[in-house]
Amino acid sequence: MIPGMQYERDNIREMAGYAPGEQPSATEVIKLNTNENPWPPSPAAMAVLNDISPEALRRYPSPTAAAFLDEAAGLHGVDKECLVATNGGDELLRLAMTTFVSPGEPIGIADPSYSLYPVLAAIHESPIKAVELLEDYDLPEDFAAQMNAAEVKLTLLVNPHAPSGRLFDVDRIDALAQALDGVLLVDEAYVDFAPASHNVIPLIARHDNLMILRTLSKGYSLAGLRLGYGIGSPNLIRPIAEKTRDSYSVDALADAIGAAALADQTTAKASWQAVREERARITEALTERGFTVAPSHSNFCLARMPDAAQHSAQATYEKLKARNILVRYFPAQRLNDCLRISIGTPAQNDALLCALDEILA
Ligand SMILES: *Cc1c(COP(=O)(O)O)cnc(C)c1O
Repeated sequence: MIPGMQYERDNIREMAGYAPGEQPSATEVIKLNTNENPWPPSPAAMAVLNDISPEALRRYPSPTAAAFLDEAAGLHGVDKECLVATNGGDELLRLAMTTFVSPGEPIGIADPSYSLYPVLAAIHESPIKAVELLEDYDLPEDFAAQMNAAEVKLTLLVNPHAPSGRLFDVDRIDALAQALDGVLLVDEAYVDFAPASHNVIPLIARHDNLMILRTLSKGYSLAGLRLGYGIGSPNLIRPIAEKTRDSYSVDALADAIGAAALADQTTAKASWQAVREERARITEALTERGFTVAPSHSNFCLARMPDAAQHSAQATYEKLKARNILVRYFPAQRLNDCLRISIGTPAQNDALLCALDEILA
C-alpha cells in the first residue's frame, strides 16, 4: 500500500454523498423529517413475517420476486413483463441511469427536487441538466424542449413533486412523455397520497419511453423493508430485469411481505386517507399561523416561515429538535426559509403545532 493514497475514482473523491434525514435511535423523538407513513404496516404483512420458514431463508429467493410481481400485476392490471422489483425505489433510479445513460451523457431533473438524483448522477459520471421550476413549482413551458436541446437521455420527474407536494396531472405527464426524446422516469414515491383518480399507468401502453417508479416505503409503511418497483413497457423493463439488475437484490422477506402488503389494500388505503385528512388540518393550522404552505398531494407539506427575518427556518428547525421534534430543513437556495414537515399521527401533529406556538410566540 501507499500511505495516504486515495483509491477511489476522481468523480467519487470530488462528489458529496447523499445527506439522509436523521434517523435517531431514541423512540421518544417525533419524527416528521423523512416522510415515513406514521401508521403501522398491514397486519397481514406482519403475519407473513412471523410465519417465514427457515427454508425460505436457507435458499436463494425468487430471482424476479415472483410473488410480489404477481400481486403488483393484478393490482395495476398490467402484464408481469411490464414490472421489475428493486431494492427500494432508490435502486431503480440507479438502474435507470446504468441502463439508459452512458457515463458522460446528461441526466435531466427539475430543480428543486429529490436530492439523491444529482448524487446518483455524479456516481455515474453524468452531468445534470437542471431546469428550474416556476415560483409555484410548476414546470416551465419549454421543459421538454430544454431537455431535448441538451440531448438528455433520462429525465427524472418526481410526481407528486418533492419537496412541494404539487401534482402534475395525467395530461401533463402524457404530453411530457410525448415531447421528450429520451426516457421519462416519473418518480411516484408519494402517489398513494394523491387523489385515487390520478393514474398514469395506462400511459405506458402509449409511450415506450415512460417508466413509473413506485415504492412500498411511504404508502405501505415499509421503509425498513427496502422494496420498490418499476412499471413500464417491456422494452424499458427487459434490459433492467434481465441484465442490469443485481441478482437477488430483492430478498425473500421483501418478496413475501411486499406481496401481502399490496394484497391488503384496506389497511393501506385507510392510512392514505388518514394522512390526507391530517394534511388538510396541518395545512390550515400552519396557514392560520402565517406560514405559506404549498398545496400538497403528498404525505408532507412545505411551509415557508411567516417572518424568516425574525424566526429563521434553520433556528426553528433547531428549536423543534431541542424539543425532540424532527422536521427537515434544506440549506438550499429557495428552500432555506422553509420547513418540510412529514404528516404524522394527529397526536404528533398536535405536538408540532404546540411547539411551534411556543417557538414563534
Ligand atoms: C422515498 C423516495 C424514493 C424511494 O425510496 P425507497 O425507500 O428507496 O423506495 C424515491 N424518490 C423519492 C422522491 C422519495 O422520496
